[in-house]
Amino acid sequence: MSGVRRSDLFLPATRETPGAGSEAAKLLVRAGLIRGFGSGLWAVTPAGQRVRAKLTDRVVAAMDSIGGQRVRLPGLQYADRWRESGRWGGFEGEMFTLENRDGQAMCLAPSHEEGVVNLLDGPVRSHHDLPLLVYQVESKFRDDHARNGLVRTKEFTMKDAYSVHADEAGLRETYREVRAAYERALDDVGLEYAIVEADAGVMGGATSEEFVAPVADAGGDSDRLVYCTGAGCRFGVTDEHDGFDEYDADDACPECGGSLAASDGIEVGHVFQLGTRYSQAMDFTVDTADGDERSVEMGSYGLGVDRLLQTLGQQHGSPDNLAWPVTDWGSVAPYRAAIVPVGDDSEVLGVAERIHDDCGREDVLLYDEDAGLSVGERFAESGLLGIPAKVVVGNTYREDGVVDVETASGTEKLAVDEVAAFVERFAGSGSRAADSGVSD
Ligand SMILES: [Zn+2]
Repeated sequence: MSGVRRSDLFLPATRETPGAGSEAAKLLVRAGLIRGFGSGLWAVTPAGQRVRAKLTDRVVAAMDSIGGQRVRLPGLQYADRWRESGRWGGFEGEMFTLENRDGQAMCLAPSHEEGVVNLLDGPVRSHHDLPLLVYQVESKFRDDHARNGLVRTKEFTMKDAYSVHADEAGLRETYREVRAAYERALDDVGLEYAIVEADAGVMGGATSEEFVAPVADAGGDSDRLVYCTGAGCRFGVTDEHDGFDEYDADDACPECGGSLAASDGIEVGHVFQLGTRYSQAMDFTVDTADGDERSVEMGSYGLGVDRLLQTLGQQHGSPDNLAWPVTDWGSVAPYRAAIVPVGDDSEVLGVAERIHDDCGREDVLLYDEDAGLSVGERFAESGLLGIPAKVVVGNTYREDGVVDVETASGTEKLAVDEVAAFVERFAGSGSRAADSGVSD
């Protein structure tokens, strides 16, 4: 089986959306990107996984570009290091705990500060071994009250990163680099967001900021956000912040003078300067240049991949259709383009097949005859999926020998052999999940 032909694709689009919780989640279910597995648990379908892989790819590239080293830490952990850090019980019931058959206390890790100390403490002994920035893209677990689809779940995928330093200046520098890398990744995928000062909460530490995406309605599970609409300005404040009441929609932005707006906000990322909160509790020290020993400085940086998927779909879509943004980098849409033959005569179908071949097939969805969908259903489904370009092979081809390529910015009439280059230019070669190299 080669290429993406609609007749081969498992795409469980449905009109029924039991328990999805919010309009944004219901839209993902209707489009066939996710399927509920009971409260707070979701399966991701092949089309959903394509979006997720592209998002992950962009986040991984951003971390690699600043010297991040990818690791994998166990999701299932013993209690001892959590007791050392003082967080066993610190999650107030949100941590899944269990006992193994030998009666040992274990947990499903909601976060990995303890895990990363466990990984590094020992091999890392000296300031010469630092700084280090490690990250993973894996499941986390929290026994949270499930709300709003992929935004609040019991198992979720995060890119979580941890940095370790011999001094505070090094921590501050890496914190700035990770913050900038997050900005690049979120700009690439086309998210609108503000960066807000935050309370460190259960993570501890001194300085932290959240990346919060404005959305019209977060289904009762969100902060209220006031944010700047000025180009390039990331000023924002949420109702978790003390000074929130000082800001209103339509006020002038205190940073750039642009106009403020108010909306619901979904936190997609969070960066923390933890300082020595964990290293002191867990006795993680290194030898310093002047022959002393000191607790290492740590930073912790999270970006929610599943959350990002839903938030992006919600931010740019309508109640009826998903819409994935197209940026200079490309698009995380499940497919860059859909080829929609109108009619089933062999000439039209042959041209559709030829365009599919020209486009390299793997990131372009062909509505082939065997899928058994009417022309109306082909249009409706590709719209629902938010595929950014539709290549329509039909009457215009029969009459004038050209095809219509429909995008958000209008319809282009193109010769058959021009389509592949157009799709490449329009939706970006960077967005292919297969291109997982560092691009900057
Ligand atoms: Zn501003």
